[in-house]
Amino acid sequence: MSLALKPHPCQKCGACCAYFRVGFYWWEAETESEYQVPKHLTVDLDSRQRCMKGTEHKHQNRCVALTGKIGEHVSCSIYEHRPTPCRQFKASYENGEQEPRCDQARAKHGLEPLTKYDWPEIRPPPVAVGEVISLPPLGVG
Ligand code: SF4
Ligand code: SF4
Repeated sequence: MSLALKPHPCQKCGACCAYFRVGFYWWEAETESEYQVPKHLTVDLDSRQRCMKGTEHKHQNRCVALTGKIGEHVSCSIYEHRPTPCRQFKASYENGEQEPRCDQARAKHGLEPLTKYDWPEIRPPPVAVGEVISLPPLGVG
């Protein structure tokens, strides 16, 4: 049995970074703030909020900090400096519960919703009692 860990599902998704507006309190983009979101990658929303560049659009939005191809392999180029909403956003079943907003973003990009079996620590159930399985003869495969 292979003990290789599955990659984190978000590493081959990125759908939420290219669906929702990522707005946050303006202070988070100041150099004195805790996260120090790079200001040049943000735009003003109003007098109190900024948002990640690229997510201010209603259509075809994509955060400027997202690299890679959605649904295949992605990463956040400012991971250590991402703003609060990115830190708080939960993937479906990351904490054992379905997250409709994750499902919604994935659906928008043609991706199936995550299930609890997409997470490394959760294994599919063993073969059900009474289920017939066929094994190849010894020495084959
Ligand atoms: S949509 Fe869900 S699975 Fe995809 S990156 Fe966002 S939180 Fe992760
Ligand atoms: S800052 Fe990073 S985590 Fe947040 S939306 Fe942009 S790419 Fe995604």
